[in-house]
Amino acid sequence: MIESANLLASKTWHIQHAHLVIAAMRRFAEELRAAGFAVDYRFARTLAEGLHDHRAIHRTEEVLVMEPASRSARERMARLGCRVVPGNQFLCHYSDFAAWVNRRLNVRMEDFYRWQRRRLGYLMEGTGPRAQPSGGRWNFDADNRRPPPRGHVWPAPLTSPLDDLDRAVIEHISPFCEGESPTGIWATTRAEARRRLDHFIDRVLPGFGPHAEAMTTGSMHLAHSLLSPYLNLGLLTPAEVCDAVQVAFDRGLVPIASAEGFIRQVIGWREYVWGMYWAGMPAYAGLNALGATRPLPPVFRGNAATQMRCLDQVLSEVRTHGFAHHIQRLMVLGNLCLIAGVDPAELLDWMWASFVDGAEWVMVPNVLGMSQHADGGRMATKPYASGGAYINRMSDYCKGCHFNHSRRTGEDACPFTTLYWDFFARHQVRFARNPRVSRQVQVAMRLDDLSEVRECANEVVTRLSAGQL
Ligand code: SF4
Repeated sequence: MIESANLLASKTWHIQHAHLVIAAMRRFAEELRAAGFAVDYRFARTLAEGLHDHRAIHRTEEVLVMEPASRSARERMARLGCRVVPGNQFLCHYSDFAAWVNRRLNVRMEDFYRWQRRRLGYLMEGTGPRAQPSGGRWNFDADNRRPPPRGHVWPAPLTSPLDDLDRAVIEHISPFCEGESPTGIWATTRAEARRRLDHFIDRVLPGFGPHAEAMTTGSMHLAHSLLSPYLNLGLLTPAEVCDAVQVAFDRGLVPIASAEGFIRQVIGWREYVWGMYWAGMPAYAGLNALGATRPLPPVFRGNAATQMRCLDQVLSEVRTHGFAHHIQRLMVLGNLCLIAGVDPAELLDWMWASFVDGAEWVMVPNVLGMSQHADGGRMATKPYASGGAYINRMSDYCKGCHFNHSRRTGEDACPFTTLYWDFFARHQVRFARNPRVSRQVQVAMRLDDLSEVRECANEVVTRLSAGQL
């Protein structure tokens, strides 16, 4: 096992992200030694140098590595002469995904998800071609879009006390990192990750679903599982997570909308994103279909304050925990960058470093495709642009904000609302024939104050870039 100094210095990582990866590695090495394995744990300038030293000292005949999820790591392993063996971090290998895609005109997540459900048997009644989805429907997504309930107390996440190993890692990585120091919320062993899975199934999953898209100042997690870092790091496997959900559903402990919503995230979205990533790389990482070139606003890196309550809230949660749930990522952070015309590569780099579950394979399609429409619609057939009205409906952020979510011009105009209309006016040619957003284009072009909106939008992006919004 090799800790590469160059990799650590390659980005300004959120300290909780870097801590999670490195502490989990060191603990895994300890567990292996305790189980009787000989572990060569190296600190090297680069992975190549660490491997070279290992080979020289141990006269290794062959080095086997579990297949990395991301292409750049996969290629590095090949260049270093390692033999890659299949891992268990996904239930559908990207080569099987490619075979599924072959000759399809539309590569829709929903079709892939149903194929996965049938083939893996999760939440299915009966077997073979006659098998039907449990609950009589494939998808309960429409039931999962309720706004945040008032005064609800969400189950608190489990924590683990930090020990000397954590403190040593934190001291080692601090010079390369930003964000608040680890609090114990993220597990760094498989046993602790399993404990969090059990906690999620028993306490959280029954309430997962109806408020999956809600955002509130009272809780950063609501009923989200917080399991993605463990799935992406290999501390949990998707099979064991889905098996646990199936068992809880079979015992009548979890409603179908919650079980289905969660299974869809794991065997649907997560695996679809991985397959799309491999199908599109290496070109995918350089796409910028909307020609967005503005730098990431300084407020993202903590170099400025903001009066936008939604943005301030989400960024403060990222700083505190290295986490934001998918709607906060898509509809606040991503949405703002999309409609403000921020370079998608800058957002991708920031999200990869800032979120504890960040990795190249997950960020390229999610950020460039889903969030920034930089792939021209391969991942999402419409741009995920919204004004303040959506954020107001799905959160409690707008109450008490300096801006007014329903105003698009004037001193107190909501930046999201202003930029939303400007976005559709700016990209009218591209989206005029898109059936999912053509109406927004028409409405934007008919606004009687459009020129004022566009002037206001210019001012908004200037102030955002200057850290004065
Ligand atoms: Fe965000 Fe606009 Fe709502 Fe303020 S009014 S919280 S800026 S959406």
